[in-house]
Amino acid sequence: RTVYVNGQYLPETEATVSIFDRGFLMADGVYEVTSVLDGKLIDFAGHLRRLQRSLDELEMKNPLSEDEWLAVHRELVARNGVEEGMVYLQVTRGNPGDRDFAWAADVAPTVVLFTQTKPGLADNPQARTGIRVISVPDIRWGRRDIKTVQLLYPSMGKMMAKKAGVDDAWFTEDGFVTEGTSNNVYIIRGNRIVTRPLSSEILHGITRSAVLRFAAEAQYEVEERAFTVEEAQGADEAFLTSASAFVMPVVELDGAAIGTGKPGPVATRLREIYLDEMRKAAV
Ligand code: PMP
Repeated sequence: RTVYVNGQYLPETEATVSIFDRGFLMADGVYEVTSVLDGKLIDFAGHLRRLQRSLDELEMKNPLSEDEWLAVHRELVARNGVEEGMVYLQVTRGNPGDRDFAWAADVAPTVVLFTQTKPGLADNPQARTGIRVISVPDIRWGRRDIKTVQLLYPSMGKMMAKKAGVDDAWFTEDGFVTEGTSNNVYIIRGNRIVTRPLSSEILHGITRSAVLRFAAEAQYEVEERAFTVEEAQGADEAFLTSASAFVMPVVELDGAAIGTGKPGPVATRLREIYLDEMRKAAV
């Protein structure tokens, strides 16, 4: 695989980053994941907008222009022959030459990108059966709207799900569901889609924003409010969204079947609309 590090395209075995990089020592960095379908980038503009916002919130300069980001993404997709998969991008605050909590403004950021080939991303068998989740307490920090590389607790959440024999975990805080380990979550009652409003308590999903737009266009009612585990267990349907799962039906929460226990018509239709529309707009 060819990867990108600080302006250079290299074989992955030759790519290196300093041990003093603040991304490595302090999780001081941000990332984005953009899906690739038919060799093209899905909702690329959305991911660049959120990258800019994450960098601004952490007082980091954007090291590349929009055109440069697009060129690097396309070059890696082409060099690695990615038809279906992902491009991962990461910007960390770089290597100040020593370990120090305070940061200096003049250190060059470290930019790393690589691709992952994932056949079956769009035609995902899990979308036909739906996935099962458990709830776990949300003990992450208070700025979950910044897409930092600090992913230890989400990783622990995934492991708790794995140990419980299910697919993923939903975080809960003060009695309400916040989001999934790496996705935004929704329940459906009749014609109404309920999802938590944007705040610093959840990541502002790029997929969320597109799916809510398509849902409104398809005449579904969208209600942005928090919901409990009990309400989700009693819902007609549930689903999650992320850049790589797209729209994924959720059919079981803490051992209780949701609706019929099979993917419902609304989640299934939203997945189809999302994939159709985003493929058309891909770059
Ligand atoms: N919430 C969290 C905590 C996430 O990690 C992600 C995916 N990175 C999402 C939501 C979904 O965001 P997106 O649709 O932009 O992939």
